[in-house]
Amino acid sequence: MKYLLKNGTVVTGEKSEQLDILVEGEKIVQVGKNLPSKDAQEIDVSGKLLFPGFIDGHTHFDLEVAGTVTADDFETGTKAAILGGTTFVIDYASQDKGGHTLKEGLDKWHKKADDKCSCDYSFHMSIVEWNEKTEQEIQDMIDHGITSFKLYMTYPAMIVNDCDMYKILKKLGKCGCFAGVHCENAGVIDALIAEAKKEGRLGPENHPLVRPDTMEAEAVHRLLVIAKEADAPVMVVHLTNKKAFEEVMRARANGQEVYAETCPQYLEFTCDVYKREDGRNFVCSPPMKGQESQDALWKAIKNGMIDTVATDHCPFQSYEKDWGKDDFTKIPNGCPGVENLYPYMLDAANSGKITFERAVELCSTNVAKIFGCDNKGSISVGKDADIVIYDKDKDFTISVDNMHSDLDHTIWEGKQLHGYPIRTYLRGNVVYDNGDFVGTPGLGEYVKRSPRKH
Ligand code: MN
Ligand code: MN
Repeated sequence: MKYLLKNGTVVTGEKSEQLDILVEGEKIVQVGKNLPSKDAQEIDVSGKLLFPGFIDGHTHFDLEVAGTVTADDFETGTKAAILGGTTFVIDYASQDKGGHTLKEGLDKWHKKADDKCSCDYSFHMSIVEWNEKTEQEIQDMIDHGITSFKLYMTYPAMIVNDCDMYKILKKLGKCGCFAGVHCENAGVIDALIAEAKKEGRLGPENHPLVRPDTMEAEAVHRLLVIAKEADAPVMVVHLTNKKAFEEVMRARANGQEVYAETCPQYLEFTCDVYKREDGRNFVCSPPMKGQESQDALWKAIKNGMIDTVATDHCPFQSYEKDWGKDDFTKIPNGCPGVENLYPYMLDAANSGKITFERAVELCSTNVAKIFGCDNKGSISVGKDADIVIYDKDKDFTISVDNMHSDLDHTIWEGKQLHGYPIRTYLRGNVVYDNGDFVGTPGLGEYVKRSPRKH
């Protein structure tokens, strides 16, 4: 199969230019002006924008958590991803507590995902227990293509203490890997929750009050001090607020290599949503923050100080969210978004809030670079032919009825987008066409990632 996408505007992280793309099999083999079609099928895409497939570096499909399992498994989750222009997801696999190995965690996630995915996929590995055996497993993980890890500074089932944090970051840094870290101060948050309960403050509007900006910023600060001592790069995942962001900037000024990821929900909503009737549907951790923080995030997005945007897709059904109707601490934490991120960020570009090049950088190019996905992240020769064709004049209103998550609501209900993907290729295969999913579960392949080059 050989075809030529003609007369479209190709957008990379650096520039937008009218270029033709020649695809042969799964790869982009030529990009240039007025390419001859020869034996290739010619497809006219004039007037359309062409982007590299989006990479969602933060999903939780088929995750057992909060006494249930997230609403999307790898089949429904990756199908929803494709319908929103995402051709590659990196999901969080996890080691189990109680003497279990990283390899057991990896095998478990392969069992969940293999032969079910409609887009390409890879895993980060969460480390929840550290000992000599775990340390020896890091090289094994790298051999399996896992080069990024996850550490939690909160949640009893996942939390690692400062001692292990230091040891893990140091080991990962030496191996050309790094960790993404969930930064929140667990101890003080527990105390604030106890205070709220004692005072009978049990509605979802208390969720942001017990997880304030300062307790995220404190954890980011502590993480970065530890990372500096360990001489290791690190990523702050789902960064939500101004104070935490200032900690990142301070560490960078200090010569540290720190990556920052944020999520579209923090760019769109503020903590006011928790006062709504359906406030519990917005409960995720860290929570949405105030307007000042949202403004700071957008500014950092614009000037390139935030590196990536990912969804933290972690959906729960309404009846599960209802478990916390009378006690906000019982609401399962997490929100949907895997189908919305690329269209959302491209809408921001289409309306002039950011450039299309920046959207591509945040949603694809930087993600591929940082996570060692050598064949992804750009429309250029040799890369996988993961291509999204975008109609910047097509209007789309998000509703639970036109979303494909296995979920009975969406926090994005009613959001109007100007511009929407109209066709998507995954390694040369058309998988989405004019509103319809035309892919195949199982077409998605596991992607081995590379360690960082020193
Ligand atoms: Mn998290
Ligand atoms: Mn997460």
